[in-house]
Amino acid sequence: MHLIAVFRRTLNNNNLKSFSELGVSKSFIKGLDELKIQKPTEIQERIIPILLQQKTDIVGLAHTGTGKTAAFGLPILQNIDPKDKKIQALILAPTRELCQQIQKQLFRFTKYSEKIFSEAVYGGAPIDDQIFRLSRPTHIIVATPGRLLDLLERKALSLEHINTIVLDEADEMLRMGFKQDIDKILKNVKSQRNIWLFSATLPNGIQQLIKRFLKPNAPRVQVKNISEVNQNIQHQYVLSPGVDKLKLLVYFLNAHKEDRGIIFCSTKASAQKLSRDLNQKGLSIDVIEGDMTQKERNKVLRAFRAEKLQFLVATDVAARGLDIPNLAFVAHFELPDQLEFYTHRSGRTGRAGNTGLSVSFVDDKQYKDLVKISKELKFSLKMAK
Ligand code: ADP
Ligand code: MG
Repeated sequence: MHLIAVFRRTLNNNNLKSFSELGVSKSFIKGLDELKIQKPTEIQERIIPILLQQKTDIVGLAHTGTGKTAAFGLPILQNIDPKDKKIQALILAPTRELCQQIQKQLFRFTKYSEKIFSEAVYGGAPIDDQIFRLSRPTHIIVATPGRLLDLLERKALSLEHINTIVLDEADEMLRMGFKQDIDKILKNVKSQRNIWLFSATLPNGIQQLIKRFLKPNAPRVQVKNISEVNQNIQHQYVLSPGVDKLKLLVYFLNAHKEDRGIIFCSTKASAQKLSRDLNQKGLSIDVIEGDMTQKERNKVLRAFRAEKLQFLVATDVAARGLDIPNLAFVAHFELPDQLEFYTHRSGRTGRAGNTGLSVSFVDDKQYKDLVKISKELKFSLKMAK
């Protein structure tokens, strides 16, 4: 078992350098080690040396689960002057969960380094608390665009000494309607700052953003497309006519009593209903969707991470980017309405050398849609046994 894991790891990371060879300082490596981040992923190997060696803009194209947080987080941390108490870096991300997650990762990376202070600020939480927290020395801000503007208008912080701006999940920020907010923020920072843009996809909006705000010579780093990233995932389907869908899902979940997984729905209402239905069948399950308050979502996520819940029902937006390790499977109770969502959903399983299962519950018509998805994303599809 152990040997296989080691072998897979070697396969996935062939010829990869160590973090110290990439130029990451010892004080961070100890913190990384504790998080079991020992060998850089591909995007980390390619991006970190560039960002440590030169002041530059950069475009990083990579899907969920490829390790982008450390790819930009380590260079950010290493560029901070801890003695200078001004805000030196800004990270923009689409949701409060992502902001919290990024801030937490940065905090952990610095467990053994000189103190570097970061704060996460986002909508849907009391602004007064955030204003108070920002009154203390802060080196790095992790923010959703809307809340950042709000705080800027209230003069709760200043971006005057920012050297670096990260746009994390830039495509998702545009999709969520943050374009004008981002424009406004980028127009209001001094010109000698660097922008590091990360995105899973490169739609028109992102290309325009790059053209408008990044230097024309900004390096572009793209890691393998998803079919290669998802090598460790088996994609299966269960043919389930409408009336039998729930029954077949329950059967599947009962057959996976030892495993943990997320079941995806495409709307908030159907996610809530499915969660109730599965609860009634005696399964250990709860739901996260975008209409729930942050507190409610956090409570459910905490329970899921602590393995007090075995399964989770989620909508695409609520689950986007969340880092939930070691999922044996993801199930698509409803197919996603966008191609990327299939990728993002599936990206929750098959991580770090583990094999994962992505299983879709489809009727005849949905099966045809699924076949289209599999052709687009170039994965092979099998009937579940
Ligand atoms: P992304 O932002 O690309 O979706 P994350 O930065 O959230 O990916 O990382 C996904 C998961 O992989 C996290 O749990 C993180 O701790 C872990 N991880 C990141 N880099 C490595 C690495 N080099 N080795 C092992 N695990 C890693
Ligand atoms: Mg990320």
